Amino acid sequence: MGSSLFDLTGRVAIVTGGNGGIGLGMATGLAEAGAAIVIAARDQKKSAEAAEKLQKLGARVATVEVDVKDQNSVKRMVQATFDRFQRVDILVANAGINIRKPPQDVSAEEWQAVLDVNLNGPFFCAQAVYPAMKAQGGGKIITIGSMTSIFGVPFAPAYSATKGGVVQLTRSLATAWAKDNIQVNCVLPGWIDTDLTRQARKQVQGLHERVEARTPAGRWGEPKDFAGVAVFLASHASDFITGAAIPVDGGYSVSGG
Ligand code: NDP
Repeated sequence: MGSSLFDLTGRVAIVTGGNGGIGLGMATGLAEAGAAIVIAARDQKKSAEAAEKLQKLGARVATVEVDVKDQNSVKRMVQATFDRFQRVDILVANAGINIRKPPQDVSAEEWQAVLDVNLNGPFFCAQAVYPAMKAQGGGKIITIGSMTSIFGVPFAPAYSATKGGVVQLTRSLATAWAKDNIQVNCVLPGWIDTDLTRQARKQVQGLHERVEARTPAGRWGEPKDFAGVAVFLASHASDFITGAAIPVDGGYSVSGG
């Protein structure tokens, strides 16, 4: 295992939703820092394409089919990681969905569907990697919040509830597992150009321009903006940081307009 602060040689990372968007941006950073990557998502064709990109960087990569809302599927994902790489050091619990509707129009099924993926998912994944991380003497867990962990938006009540919840889940896991040398931190992305927000920009009029105008950096974020924070939170560089919620947002969350 490498000794430098940011070196991830010999470490093994599971990235849920790692086959595109922010997850692939983080997986790319981890791979470049030397980690072996398990891309865990539903769409196997998309996962194979993402794996090919990472392999070109020289990384060891595996793909695993998982549905994060299904606890047994999550357990199988961790077992498959073990079978392939014999350890798990880093979990990026990134998979997430949104259903955009005003609160009065959200059905019980839609509400539950968002909670299942965005809140149950990270919990099941963290629970499933814990025994291995504890046995190995430590680990790193990265969860993904949102600007809706901080602010309200009128069109995403279930999503916002899960993204607020995931910050509290992060703090809870961080305090519980600090004694096991497992650091758990949450990344709060600003508005990032991915499949998720391409759909949002079709559904919410004026969103693209509003975000650009409000973001001090003057642009939407890109998946590659998440490589650095992933490496930092997955490496020894962040060993005394736990339970934090770190905005990666071009200044959006501190801007008074
Ligand atoms: P994408 O839609 O590009 O990525 C979502 C990923 O999650 C996909 O790889 C998808 O793969 C996977 N996924 C969805 N449902 C499941 C499931 N049930 N089981 C396993 N994997 C699943 O969006 P982003 O990259 O934008 O989103 C990534 C994370 O970042 C999410 O948690 C999102 O909420 C968060 N985020 C995004 C922001 C943005 O502006 N883009 C802002 C704030 C937060 P597959 O379909 O193959 O399963």
